[in-house]
Amino acid sequence: MRKIALICSGVAALALTACTQQADDTEAKADKADKVVWDYDGEEGPENWGDLSAEFATCKTGTQQSPIDLPARGEAKTVDVTTNYGSQSAKIVDKGYTVQADFAEGASFTSGDTTFNLLQMHMHTPSEHTVTGKSYPLVAHFVHQSGEGEFGVLGILFEEGEANASLQTILDNVGGETDVDIAAMLPSALTAYNYPGSLTTPPCSEGVNWHVVASPATASAEQIEALNGMMKNNARPVQPLNERTLTAAE
Ligand SMILES: [Zn+2]
Repeated sequence: MRKIALICSGVAALALTACTQQADDTEAKADKADKVVWDYDGEEGPENWGDLSAEFATCKTGTQQSPIDLPARGEAKTVDVTTNYGSQSAKIVDKGYTVQADFAEGASFTSGDTTFNLLQMHMHTPSEHTVTGKSYPLVAHFVHQSGEGEFGVLGILFEEGEANASLQTILDNVGGETDVDIAAMLPSALTAYNYPGSLTTPPCSEGVNWHVVASPATASAEQIEALNGMMKNNARPVQPLNERTLTAAE
């Protein structure tokens, strides 16, 4: 009797596993049907984003797309931004195509008369914006939104050098929650190239107020390698400048 009972529970356990597996597969399929798959190479790569879905059309038809190639310092007007960044609680998530920190409310940056509240920070290897055609090995995009709903992204370029302690905190806490000293992650001089652009991932929505800080911060070769190992190459190529000029904030 005992043996039979054991066999039965074994079968029941197997059946339960199978049921769970099936539920997972169905969910994955439903997820795929809802979300159009895009990637950084092949048929679903950046050149084809605009054709993958009607929702992504702006990736192809937009005239104010990001990233762009930035001119040498001194050849473009820049703006000084001020930050209200300290140590902020964040959930660190490996999203596959990027590593992202979702921040608790409270941090912000100000450019001109506009204050943008920090939502999240994510990264790209190599950098998406280039400067006179040169890319950096890593960039952090701090995504903000103003009270009026305008998106403002602060881009921090990284060159290889000394390890970045705040970046290490993020790397050590992927999948968890931690306090991140945001201010310590940035270079000391916050003079930025400022121009109107877009999200650099589908749906490539425009109306994003870009601020790319001219002076790079540093990250160690090991930190850059660790991030690239998780995210692979996740930089959209530079887009045409079209009629835009890089201007100071009003
Ligand atoms: Zn980004």
